Amino acid sequence: MLPDLKTLENLIRDVAQQEILPRFNQVGFEVKDDGSLLTEADLSADKRIRQSLAELYPAITFLSEEMDLTVQESLLQNSRHLWCLDPLDGTSNFAAGIPLFATSLALFVNGEVKIGITYDPVRDEMFSAVKGQGAWLNGEDLLCKPSSFSLDKSIAIVDFKRLKPDLVQRLFSDAPYKSQRNLGSCVLEWAWMAANRGHLYLHGGMKLWDLAAGTLILEEAGGYACTLEGETVFRQAMQVRSVLISPDKSLFAAWVLYLTGLKVDETEGANTDKHQLKQKLTEEEYKITQEGATEPAFTGKYYQNTESGIYHCICCESALFSSDEKYDSGSGWPSYWQPVTEDAVIEITDSTHGMTRVEIRCANCDAHLGHVFPDGPQPTGLRYCINSASLDFEKQ
Ligand SMILES: [Zn+2]
Repeated sequence: MLPDLKTLENLIRDVAQQEILPRFNQVGFEVKDDGSLLTEADLSADKRIRQSLAELYPAITFLSEEMDLTVQESLLQNSRHLWCLDPLDGTSNFAAGIPLFATSLALFVNGEVKIGITYDPVRDEMFSAVKGQGAWLNGEDLLCKPSSFSLDKSIAIVDFKRLKPDLVQRLFSDAPYKSQRNLGSCVLEWAWMAANRGHLYLHGGMKLWDLAAGTLILEEAGGYACTLEGETVFRQAMQVRSVLISPDKSLFAAWVLYLTGLKVDETEGANTDKHQLKQKLTEEEYKITQEGATEPAFTGKYYQNTESGIYHCICCESALFSSDEKYDSGSGWPSYWQPVTEDAVIEITDSTHGMTRVEIRCANCDAHLGHVFPDGPQPTGLRYCINSASLDFEKQ
């Protein structure tokens, strides 16, 4: 069971309203050289949120900025549940009297962001998302909309700080957009993109705290994001990640091409449209292919299927397995000793549930299919154990 979203939202709102907002632009006070007013807002918000979460959910661990990198990496890899909190993002804005800062909380479950919350106390705006359920702004559905702006008319939010000098030079001399801004709060920038505020986004290197909640809010709103390498932004790791975003599919494609030289379908995770998939798939098929769930053994429609034909990906229709290589493993899931072609599937090492297994995904669209085990029949000795719900059988 996931923690209740409303409870978390109320906690974050209360703390930000009571600990952060009253210290902003406080009459008669200035931020001292040691930043004490700022530190006070930051620390007291951090302390109160941690205490409350520890009381409400004692089993869930905290990932902290002060921890050693090795401890952080180990927690990320080995914790089933993990909180990731940024009590005050946009501290420079806060100190300078600029009303753009926010509190952000994410919950990781088995290495995935399952809940993301970003709260802006100045505007009383609560952005939140639950994996597979949607994104909301103050309780209303948050949905990225197609833009009527072309690339050359668009407004880009760009933080030049950690970008490579040659890219910065190109953006100054040959910008593809009309005009550029920088808000100075990463967590708010993700949320604003999800709310169709601005058309393009670029950041040279974000920490995990800056991106965790935002990746889920944007994803659930149906927006598009990747790194400058064309990879999915969120990783179970502490390295900084570059971030490209657009709420609009075609602007995103043009922005990715300009920045990376990649076509959008060469990037990870950008070529599946979550909204279309939700309409196309059943709830079970969506949970299994998009969230890595597993159907109960002996319940799927194909584990006993002995007809001749090809098993396609339920999401993108790529050919994955053939009846020629299917066998009865007795496991209760369709089992194959090899995929239809070597590059039809990709393997990902999966360390969730306290064991190391090799996850199998569709090489074309990244849909979760199942796992591969070294106990199959010859000639490969492998058992591709696949969910029926990830497959669509075509009889031949
Ligand atoms: Zn696929």
